[in-house]
Amino acid sequence: MNRESINSFIENRKEDFIKASDMIWEFAELGLEEHQSSEYLSNLLREEEFEVEKNLAGMPTAFSASYGSGKPIIAILGEFDALPGLSQKASTYEKEEVVNGGNGHGCGHNTLGAGSLAASVAVKEYLKKNQKSGTIRYYGCPAEENGSGKTYMVRDGIFNDVDIALSWHPMDTNNVMGIRTQACMSAYFRFKGVSAHAAVSPHLGRSALDAMELMNVGANYLREHISKEALLHYAITDGGGKAPNVVQDKSEVYYFVRAPKTNDMFEVYDRLCDVAKGAALMTGTEVEIEFVEGLSDYIPNKTLGELMSDNFSEVGSPKFDSEDHKLAEKFKTTFTDQEIMNTLGQIRMFAGEEVARSLEDKSVCDYVSPYRHIDMHMPGSTDVGDVSYVVPTAQLTTACCALATTGHTWQFTAQMCSPLAHKGMLTAAKVIALTAIDIINTPDITEKAKTELFNQTKGIYNCPLPKDSTPIK
Ligand SMILES: [Zn+2]
Repeated sequence: MNRESINSFIENRKEDFIKASDMIWEFAELGLEEHQSSEYLSNLLREEEFEVEKNLAGMPTAFSASYGSGKPIIAILGEFDALPGLSQKASTYEKEEVVNGGNGHGCGHNTLGAGSLAASVAVKEYLKKNQKSGTIRYYGCPAEENGSGKTYMVRDGIFNDVDIALSWHPMDTNNVMGIRTQACMSAYFRFKGVSAHAAVSPHLGRSALDAMELMNVGANYLREHISKEALLHYAITDGGGKAPNVVQDKSEVYYFVRAPKTNDMFEVYDRLCDVAKGAALMTGTEVEIEFVEGLSDYIPNKTLGELMSDNFSEVGSPKFDSEDHKLAEKFKTTFTDQEIMNTLGQIRMFAGEEVARSLEDKSVCDYVSPYRHIDMHMPGSTDVGDVSYVVPTAQLTTACCALATTGHTWQFTAQMCSPLAHKGMLTAAKVIALTAIDIINTPDITEKAKTELFNQTKGIYNCPLPKDSTPIK
């Protein structure tokens, strides 16, 4: 088996990989509850002669599956968690839930899990047929959406012997990520007051609801005085009760803080905690702060990004046929002009005016962006960030849906179980497999990628998780 036969190997086995993706799409399990998905993927890998290790970093659905021996150890990251409230029928371009209020793969992690598995199996075949030294290791990473599973895995040393990490994400465009993401953390703020009759004895009450409202007011004033890129989001998770004639003695608000770097994020978080304490002081209540989770910004590795991009150019964009175009066209009619303009604006920013214009009338992206290593971050966060701090990492996105489809929508769920996603997924698998094979055959790449990472981090990784914390569902 040579490098050139990767394409035909993946095409010949595509029914297995598509079935795995569709199975996980149907399981649609939330973070840390992905028991069937984790079981299904790890069983498949075991059948492919991988050695499976389960229950990593205290998470029953986290696993690794290794094949081969010796260096380099190349990790391919797979995810499989779904999102709540995004249940949607497959390939249906009208909003229609499968399960009322149920879960759905609105971020396409079903394809991410199965596509990374396809790449791992292809590399295994290459190692086996050519009797090469090197280890390919699939990581089943749970709870990307709600629990930063990879951050726990990094904190607990699961990636300690890994040399290179590769991953991908389904999207509406073809791209190797040369841009950073934001560090993100979340915390609950719980206020405790004293309840009283709101009319008869309000002076005896201490309102936890007032405290929470004042905290939110304070946080909204804080926004102007933090760095432009930092973001605060909140959800009121407990208003204290439904009776206005009772002074509420409890309340809870859930905050996300995002910033370009972990240290900036913690600086904003400390000030947010001061705001909460101030609100408690003003209202004579108490506040309890529970840090829930944190994840680091993503550091793209240029050495690996350029290699992956060369392989992407070789493989080309997913080959969509006329039926795929028709389906994508239908989905495109569900987007507003503003949504389409927004997507084209992003393409313009990264790929230039000419490319954006060429895609204006198209329903799917057939353009593979050349690699651009850009010193800026995109909004949003991923726990691949923590992996990228300790192991040189590269990831790509492939077109798996109609152009202008955004993640975390019913349209995304619908298309993640369609031929569009299947083709995008197989494309990603081919690019990752070729990249891994190049790394196996050229040891200098690993050295260069490691040096590049060290120059950026100086070997320092400050895990944004509390020391003894465990993942929370
Ligand atoms: Zn995602």
